[in-house]
Amino acid sequence: MRDRREQFIDGEWIPSSEPGLEVRSARTGTLVGRVAEGTIDDVERAVAAARRAFPAWSALPAGERAGYLRAIAEGIRSHADEIVTLVAEEIGTIEGTARAMQIGAAAHAFDDAAAHAEAALEAKELGNSRILSQPVGVVAAITPWNFPLYQAALKIAPALAVGCTVVLKPSEVAGLTALTLGDIAAEAGLPAGVLNIVSGLGPVVGEALVGHPEVDAVTFTGSDRAGARVASIAGGAIKPVTLELGGKSAHLVLDDSDLESAVGYSITSAFGNNGQVCAALSRLVVPRDLLPRVEEIALAKASTVVVGDPLESGTQLGPLTSEAQRERLQGLVRTAVDEGTRVLLGGPDAEVAVPSGLEGGYWVAPTVFTDVAPDATIAQEEAFGPVLTIIPFDGDDEEGVRIVNSTRYGLNAAVWAADRERAEAVARQLNASTVYLNAAAFNPSAPFGGTKGSGFGRERGAWGLHEYTQTKSVQV
Ligand code: NAD
Repeated sequence: MRDRREQFIDGEWIPSSEPGLEVRSARTGTLVGRVAEGTIDDVERAVAAARRAFPAWSALPAGERAGYLRAIAEGIRSHADEIVTLVAEEIGTIEGTARAMQIGAAAHAFDDAAAHAEAALEAKELGNSRILSQPVGVVAAITPWNFPLYQAALKIAPALAVGCTVVLKPSEVAGLTALTLGDIAAEAGLPAGVLNIVSGLGPVVGEALVGHPEVDAVTFTGSDRAGARVASIAGGAIKPVTLELGGKSAHLVLDDSDLESAVGYSITSAFGNNGQVCAALSRLVVPRDLLPRVEEIALAKASTVVVGDPLESGTQLGPLTSEAQRERLQGLVRTAVDEGTRVLLGGPDAEVAVPSGLEGGYWVAPTVFTDVAPDATIAQEEAFGPVLTIIPFDGDDEEGVRIVNSTRYGLNAAVWAADRERAEAVARQLNASTVYLNAAAFNPSAPFGGTKGSGFGRERGAWGLHEYTQTKSVQV
């Protein structure tokens, strides 16, 4: 049991004697920790600390700030084993995914922001004007539970790089992992108040932060519902907000594709982090005459996915993060069945091979639906669990594109085609901020974010830093 009922404010851990919020293991369902349930007073103290720290931090040369960021990146790498264990417990993340995203990509976010710090703030000359990029000020960052360290890193690193100070409100569902960032920041010698972490509930701590008059900008990643609330509070206070929300991303497979590879890629993406990924390619859109072969491959590949303890090597699919998430997912899967959707694998009543000793964990059966209408509930709503939905289309590439674009979301997408030019032409028409062609590699420095109902603003690489600067022209 980890008792972390404490807030990281002004460079110190402030203990809380309240009962706090429970953190339960995804693997076993047992209580594995407690985090503090933050109050309005905690928010006041954290924002005041961030405000006090801002003048000195923003006045440092960018290269000096970059040094701190690199030390944090190193700290993440040196805490790797602790973080991998925590995310397996809190989220059910398997080790390979944890090492790639929570360590590798999270550390990269700090190194990358450090590399771009100077250029992001460079003044430009325009006639008799000097165009300055300056830090926006105190930033409130609100993050979800599915990649607790990486999502926080994508906000904290660029904000700190350009000279902003930050108050982070991590998800209460995975509060333990996010708190390691406080330990790492302290070990890196980050000046007091530059990064503050307040654990607590969204409607209390989150809303108080967003509406706080001393918070200059808000960056939010999470659900559509909470994002809309955050945007309305920020809008009422006239402050900039970036929103990274949900998705129902699609993989469009064209008729000249290598189907074995294309379908395998879809399953890997839809089941990655146990399906708990905003950018998961949860829809597979295929020409109708290829459907029988696609089903055959999908069934063969999905039914051999190894469900097991996320801490055991060889496991490919772990449990969901919480009972609430499992109930939500089971409800959606049941709705799909009630609507007459054909189950290829899994479904609401499927047996799950629960590893012995982990019967209390939040296990679900990997599920594949097929021959699904593009407007069916399961083709429109985010599952946030290991569910792949196969949607056939008739006609040409344009019809495939229309189906990919036919949800309220626009986050990620993929195209598979033997003909590269054809794939690139299709990619341009997809409503998403990232498009992968033929299983191209993930690039952690390429910009990522939402279009349509998936939000607005970009994270990662040089683009991520611009969200935390404002432009000023000085006429000379
Ligand atoms: P959530 O919206 O429930 O919670 C996200 C954060 O918002 C938490 O810290 C929560 O405490 C806080 N919050 C909740 N209500 C709030 C309110 N009224 N005011 C202020 N803050 C509030 O989401 P979740 O369940 O933690 O995460 C899953 C969702 O996040 C999914 O929809 C997923 O697609 C999305 N997500 C998006 C991205 C992206 O980059 N686009 C990445 C990861 C997750």
